[in-house]
Amino acid sequence: MLMKEYIDQAERDLLHTYNRFQIVLDKGEGVYLYDMDGKKYLDFCAGIAVFALGYSNKAYNDALKGQIDKLIHTSNYYYNVPAVEAARKIKKASGMDRVFFTNSGAEANEGAIKAARKYAYLKDGCTDHEIIAMNHSFHGRTYGALSVTGNPHYREAFEPMIGHIRFADLNDFESVASQVTDKTCAIMLEPVQGEGGLIPATEEFLKQVRALCDEKGILLIFDEVQCGMGRTGTMYAWQRYGVKPDIMTTAKALGCGVPIGAFLMTEEVAASSLVAGDHGTTYGGNPLATAAVSKVFDLFEEQGVLENVREVAPYLEEKLEALAAKYGCIQSRRGVGLMQGLVFDCPVGPVINKALEKGLILINAGANIIRFVPPLVISKQNVDEMVEILTSAIDEVI
Ligand SMILES: *Cc1c(COP(=O)(O)O)cnc(C)c1O
Repeated sequence: MLMKEYIDQAERDLLHTYNRFQIVLDKGEGVYLYDMDGKKYLDFCAGIAVFALGYSNKAYNDALKGQIDKLIHTSNYYYNVPAVEAARKIKKASGMDRVFFTNSGAEANEGAIKAARKYAYLKDGCTDHEIIAMNHSFHGRTYGALSVTGNPHYREAFEPMIGHIRFADLNDFESVASQVTDKTCAIMLEPVQGEGGLIPATEEFLKQVRALCDEKGILLIFDEVQCGMGRTGTMYAWQRYGVKPDIMTTAKALGCGVPIGAFLMTEEVAASSLVAGDHGTTYGGNPLATAAVSKVFDLFEEQGVLENVREVAPYLEEKLEALAAKYGCIQSRRGVGLMQGLVFDCPVGPVINKALEKGLILINAGANIIRFVPPLVISKQNVDEMVEILTSAIDEVI
């Protein structure tokens, strides 16, 4: 079948919940993807901040192939070696004490919310605890995660959400403090907002929120689903600020393509929160997915992934700043590490489509922002290549 025929068939058979780009991707090699016609694309999307190690990473693929031949699934009624290994490695990388593996980022946030509510319930026996989340946040599409997502557009048609959620503004401590009541059990935020527009929390804000939580006995939940796993130059974004959460969620690059997420907590939270029977998942943490996680942590170390992010990110920033200076239609650059955005004063769809035509994969974050979340193994040369294509795309459509 031709590429066009696959696209037509997809439009007939798949539920139309995405406006997809009109290409069928077929294979990947390093930081490049190829469509069915063999056309090559430089990938600055990485499957939405997922494929950190690049495509066709031999050590990663071999680890998965080995696990497939051994054992793919067991259920959580039994222990399995890859899950134990993965748990040890994620604890070491995060400094958190207990982990629960899920199948996605949204599910990780569901677990975090349940853990926080249970913790509060065990303290006072009440069932009317509140969570404060941020405007412009994104936490996923399931009901709990959607309920704390600060974008009314995503929620409206699906009301009612779960109750007792309040919203405040990231980087506006007073707005957070003013939402606190004696029912507040958790404050939840992304250390760097992704979908909301590549907005980093300030160190001062995070420290103030941490202090507020400590003072009032409120749990601090960080959603590291997009900004975690090395993307900002530390394994988890909060580590650069030195502000540790009580509960943390991660997914996206955690399995580098195999669907897996996790929520983690401190021993203090774990000791009076979810117990046997409170939470579960059929697939979560299965041997195939956790073998991927385990290998990802090894390869991050062996291949110096964090070091690469720290080396290439300033170069990417510099190049994006130069673009912002050169073009009147670009208002600013923002973001941290290899999680960057260019804010335009107009919709960026035409630029992204033109770039795709020219062999560069980019995505947006909101109508006016181009988002740059490449594989974490990109080189400065890849950055130059991206800038060259992007420049000619902007020149042609704006
Ligand atoms: C993508 C994302 C999620 C949702 O993850 P899924 O795996 O799509 O469910 C949650 N939080 C943040 C910050 C994200 O970027």
